[in-house]
Amino acid sequence: MLSERVDVLKGIGKKTKEDLALMNIHTIEDLLYYFPYRYDIQEIKPLRELVHGEQATIVGTIVTEPQVLYGRKRRTVFNVKVDEAVVRVVMFHRLYSTDRLTTGATITLTGKWDAHRLQMTVHSFKFGKPESRKEINALYSVKGNLTNNRFRMLLKEALERYTDHVEEILPEKYLTAYRLPERKTALKTIHFPENINALKHAKRRFIYEELLLYQLKIHTYKKQQKEARKSEPIPIAKEKVNAFIKRLPFTLTKSQMRSLKEILADIASEQQMYRLLQGDVGSGKTAVAAISLYSVAASGYQGALMVPTEILAEQHFASMKTLLGDEVNAALLTSSVKGKKRAEILSGLKDGSIQIVIGTHSLIQEEVKFNRLGLVIIDEQHRFGVEQRRLLFEKGEAPNVLHMTATPIPRTLAITAFGELDISTIDEMPSGRKSVLTYVVNEHYLERILRFVMKKVSAGEQAYFVSPLIEESEAFDYENAVDLYNKLVSYFPPSIKVGLLHGKLKNDEKEAIMKQFVKNEIQVLVATTVIEVGVNVPNATVMVIHDAERFGLAQLHQLRGRVGRGDKQAYCILIADPKNEVGKERMRIIAETNDGFRLAEADLKLRGPGDFFGKKQSGLPEFKIADPIEDFRALEVARRDAIDIVAHHKLETDPDYRHLKMMVDKTMTEPFD
Ligand code: ADP
Ligand code: MG
Repeated sequence: MLSERVDVLKGIGKKTKEDLALMNIHTIEDLLYYFPYRYDIQEIKPLRELVHGEQATIVGTIVTEPQVLYGRKRRTVFNVKVDEAVVRVVMFHRLYSTDRLTTGATITLTGKWDAHRLQMTVHSFKFGKPESRKEINALYSVKGNLTNNRFRMLLKEALERYTDHVEEILPEKYLTAYRLPERKTALKTIHFPENINALKHAKRRFIYEELLLYQLKIHTYKKQQKEARKSEPIPIAKEKVNAFIKRLPFTLTKSQMRSLKEILADIASEQQMYRLLQGDVGSGKTAVAAISLYSVAASGYQGALMVPTEILAEQHFASMKTLLGDEVNAALLTSSVKGKKRAEILSGLKDGSIQIVIGTHSLIQEEVKFNRLGLVIIDEQHRFGVEQRRLLFEKGEAPNVLHMTATPIPRTLAITAFGELDISTIDEMPSGRKSVLTYVVNEHYLERILRFVMKKVSAGEQAYFVSPLIEESEAFDYENAVDLYNKLVSYFPPSIKVGLLHGKLKNDEKEAIMKQFVKNEIQVLVATTVIEVGVNVPNATVMVIHDAERFGLAQLHQLRGRVGRGDKQAYCILIADPKNEVGKERMRIIAETNDGFRLAEADLKLRGPGDFFGKKQSGLPEFKIADPIEDFRALEVARRDAIDIVAHHKLETDPDYRHLKMMVDKTMTEPFD
């Protein structure tokens, strides 16, 4: 049985067992499904075809006794005869079998070829001759004292004794449709590939299997959630909503229209909405939110919009007010709203006379009660914890939930990371937007940048400076910010006020400074990156970012989005000193495009998903063999199949799917965020 402990294999002692445990291998099944991280392809060629400085594999006969030399590193040296020539072999690694390196023994050596000295620096070897001239060896990340050779021997034995117990889990239908090898065969091939082609298909099979299981898990979970998440359907007053849209000072873009339709359909259905609205800064998400809030209000329900900071709440409230007019009773609730005013709002929410409320964390306080909460919108959702979001949902009877984010998430990642949310995307900008001009310069340009900022500020505009970051330490960030602040204060005449925003300030202190910037009492604002300058100051036209190469493109794009919100031309100046090609390429891309989705895709390709979201919150599952970016097409196919399987209840009803069901049930124990 596959669940047997690995010690049933020959010669597994206490130490090996411990080493395997370090690799999370406890059972035969764990061992069989421990996949290689890479393959070493060795092709034996005649010496004269080998390329100097490159990796090669040779077969020879040992002609001199090995000698151990002691230099900076201990090494073993001996000669082998290959094709009538004598090659010197140097080995640096520990030798277990020096005694077997006897003259006359045949040995296969892989290493770096030095054609000038007729010498090979070996990194792996095997006794004897390989069976064929071309061999593919799986390489595993082994732990402890385990070597790849030893690990392969364990696998070989496990495969010989246990392959018959390996059951096919994919229904015949998919194997045929995608020409995938059977599980047993694929498993043998993945560890001991006979040729590249077979390996390719074995990999394809496990990638599909892994992605299908993952997607099945997501969609099964989603279905369970949906069944649990019934909510009262809210009929949409179409005429009123259309009239409202007509009254807006602009025409909605196609993307806004499509997103709005998706949202309203959810609201009108008896399913509780659980949706993410994503779109670049300024793409018009708030406008869509406003129409959605209006729509529930027009049908006699209440809506709430929660945002991360007080200033944002005030700004959203002001723009909602203009959009909504007097027809709807809207209120602002933040910690600054106190006394009688607060009491009025609380009672208005409780009796339902206030239809829309916009606020900060204040909204989730105990004292806040709603009469008929039908829609909850959370702006910049990543700024709130799961618990905070849940507290808000619980203010109503299964209200519809809309999350909003301005961090464009590439489709690839969205499918994997947010699989359990429905997603609406605004992927175009309202027409007539001036795009921000972006320049990448080095720090020698600082003097010129300052002159430029002076010119803009003298003309009545405002500027942001993001201060340099040297270490990933808040203390250093703080010092750098203070340095830059002092530099700017002495550079600009006293009539130009410089402000400083850093992580050590309390929330209300930060808000106070931001408010001064909003009112143009401060013209130049220095901020550390701990601060997300998440507000709308249309008069700010210049964004200067130090150490730009250290930021993710998505983050730079976010910062850049702080300017270019008015009708004046805006500028983003990136001070960067990229150290390598990837870094240079990233700076080139950000200067070239203002499209957040394109940037996100590019960043993802260049730096990988961990970097994209930040290591901690990557939100991506760890895949064994699949790579959600490389294997994007397989992911789409798996997703389509999973949706079909779940929609038609195949796991529960079709015997062909029973193995899949077992696998899914097994993984369903740990849900998502
Ligand atoms: P986001 O929340 O995505 O950052 P907003 O909804 O705040 O974007 O919109 C940014 C600005 O563009 C606002 O001033 C808004 O009134 C305006 N706006 C929104 N939608 C449109 C549109 N379709 N056409 C023109 N202007 C728009
Ligand atoms: Mg917004």
